[in-house]
Amino acid sequence: LMGVRSTKHGVHRGMSSVTIPPPACMLRPLEVPFRYLFGPGPSNVPPRILAAGGRPIIGHMHSEMFGIMNDIKKGIQYAFQTSNNMTLAMSGSGHTAMECAVFNIVEPGESVLVAINGIWGERVAEIAERMGAKVHTLFKTPGGHFTNAEIEQALAKHKPVLFFLTHGESSAGLVHPMDGVGDICHKYNCLLLVDSVASLGAAPLLMDQQNIDILYTGSQKALNAPPGTAPVSFSERACHKMFNRKTKPVSYLLDMTHLSNYWGNDGKPERIYHHTGPVSGFFALRESLAILAEMGLENSWSHHTEIAEYLWKGLEDLGLKLPSVTTIAIPEGYDWKELLAYIMKHHRIEFTGGLGPSVGMVLRIGLMGYNCNKANAAMALAALEDALKQCRKSKA
Ligand code: PMP
Repeated sequence: LMGVRSTKHGVHRGMSSVTIPPPACMLRPLEVPFRYLFGPGPSNVPPRILAAGGRPIIGHMHSEMFGIMNDIKKGIQYAFQTSNNMTLAMSGSGHTAMECAVFNIVEPGESVLVAINGIWGERVAEIAERMGAKVHTLFKTPGGHFTNAEIEQALAKHKPVLFFLTHGESSAGLVHPMDGVGDICHKYNCLLLVDSVASLGAAPLLMDQQNIDILYTGSQKALNAPPGTAPVSFSERACHKMFNRKTKPVSYLLDMTHLSNYWGNDGKPERIYHHTGPVSGFFALRESLAILAEMGLENSWSHHTEIAEYLWKGLEDLGLKLPSVTTIAIPEGYDWKELLAYIMKHHRIEFTGGLGPSVGMVLRIGLMGYNCNKANAAMALAALEDALKQCRKSKA
């Protein structure tokens, strides 16, 4: 009783000492405008996925939650076309998966080869550098791609433990050829890490058949789930490397020894608390993977290509085009920021500019999953046409 009284007293004294008042903005309701999200992500989330994310929370360690996580694992195995046991979703955005892959596979001092033809290679090179890897790079300007001969030459020279390649380069609008790359890597005893954040579900990719060792994606692009979860999968080869390392990975949160247990992938009878996963995010991710499974991967690929081709009609030929994110060279004499602002203001449509090395060079239009249809492509073209008319006038 004494304890209760003194606690009450303490609480009371604490309340009387508040000096920061409730902020006025917090006393107003949340306002979220409607936007057509035709940039490179996030894309609009269909009502079915929003509803899944709005289901009541359960505990992250409840058996039903583990059941849902097992479903997610199956859904990712289908989306990636892999039978890898070590398949899971990261609690975090695409960058979480990038860091997880590099931190777990590479030990400080080991050699890594990174293909840079846009921002994502730049980012992975920096992530690897920060954890103490010896980073070697293969470089092309945005829109360029690497031949298998160029990749093989660099593997022979640098003898890396890991080679990174972006499948869908969303800053450059390029889908990279994948055939043969995995075999070349394995010839040099190197693991192949592939980023499919911007391409999964939109462009053909077959993890097992293409001998990809580590593949990751994001939730907020063609999968149409809210941002914040990131599917990832590791081959047997990758598991062998990451579970036989001498040093512990630099990140506790992203340590695959713990994450594999959390996802029930390590064969141990008990799952031990590691961190609290994003329960609502996992509900939504499960729903998005269910929609992909219902539609079928091949249908999803051909659908994205069909709509992208409709969009590309009349646009300049861009080479190895990525069907999820289209890059358009900024027409001569236009201010790209003015075009984007005009389209947002008058059409409620988000397009974006370039990213990293493509800033100032391109505009980017993404039509992914739920957003991927002819009506939206026509609306995007009409908005662009309108902006090109209106904005030129303002510059004259
Ligand atoms: N890789 C690619 C190809 C991407 O397009 C993105 C997101 N634009 C990322 C990685 C990073 O994902 P996130 O923003 O979810 O961290």
